[in-house]
Amino acid sequence: MLMLVLTGCGQEPIPPRIQTLEATTITPEPVTDSELQLQFLGAGGVYLRNGSQALLGDPFFSNPPISDWVLMRSLQVRTDIIDRYLPDLTPVRAILVAHVHHDHAMDIPYIAAKTDPDVQIYGSDTLRNTLYSAIEPERLQALNASAAGPDAPGEWLNINQQLRILPIRSGHAPHLFGKVFNSDAVTLPLLRVPDTLMEWESGQALSFVIDFLQAGQPRFRVYYQSSAADAPDGLPPPWLLEDGKGVDLALLGVANHGRLQEFPVALLQALQPDRVVLLHWEVFWDEYSQTQTQPLPGLGLMELAQKIEQALPPQVPVYLPERGARLRIQESL
Ligand SMILES: [Zn+2]
Repeated sequence: MLMLVLTGCGQEPIPPRIQTLEATTITPEPVTDSELQLQFLGAGGVYLRNGSQALLGDPFFSNPPISDWVLMRSLQVRTDIIDRYLPDLTPVRAILVAHVHHDHAMDIPYIAAKTDPDVQIYGSDTLRNTLYSAIEPERLQALNASAAGPDAPGEWLNINQQLRILPIRSGHAPHLFGKVFNSDAVTLPLLRVPDTLMEWESGQALSFVIDFLQAGQPRFRVYYQSSAADAPDGLPPPWLLEDGKGVDLALLGVANHGRLQEFPVALLQALQPDRVVLLHWEVFWDEYSQTQTQPLPGLGLMELAQKIEQALPPQVPVYLPERGARLRIQESL
């Protein structure tokens, strides 16, 4: 529904500041300890891997068509598509969910059931309450209390000795007339998972800093924000960068970015990342494939590139990945 009202007028050119990353069908090489690999899965979905450690953020493949949204039909979890495209789950140690709209959370129960039962699912209390009937409750970790915000320093949550996350209270760009659809919190466990689009309430949106560690020190630092938000929402706490570790990679959801005032200038000025990958820039109501990725109607890449130029020096690469595309980063010593 939200996208029906966006006005599109054909394909926009890709501004020179933004480089596309193409999907490939080549089997990925093993990821060594000194490399970070990102795979863009579509919408806010990412797979991040360093050596033997990986995590999933907002994995989503089902892409229900808009007719299902507006006719309030049951949204179907496309297990066939998920089974075909889900990356190697063996190294997955955590699943992060940034908010609980259908395009971030509806595939989580099926995917969680395919991962090792020790793998926890991290998100808001709305996530925990929404999926309570579908995932063992001890696997659902609500992070609202440990999230950083203007009045809270936030705290690291150690997933294991090689992986930690810092949740940050974030926001969500308005869909229409300054409003975010389905933005309520779910405060009690639901007896069944939501069925129609309107039943997926977002709750508190979170962003995450993800550190891949070696001997207790961050080797790769990733900032992950799957829905565009206006500062101070999503800003890292000032103490974060005091350890001298910069942000290797900033992952930014850009759907509806044009409806925000500050995004992404204030955030990128604060993060000063070595590279940026844009997420949630493409149509997510088509039949999922990794051979075709269509930009959202009215995406506004030109305006976005201009804002990025205000915040970052020209040598910082900004990537627009096709669904399935991968980016490999070598450790800089
Ligand atoms: Zn959303």
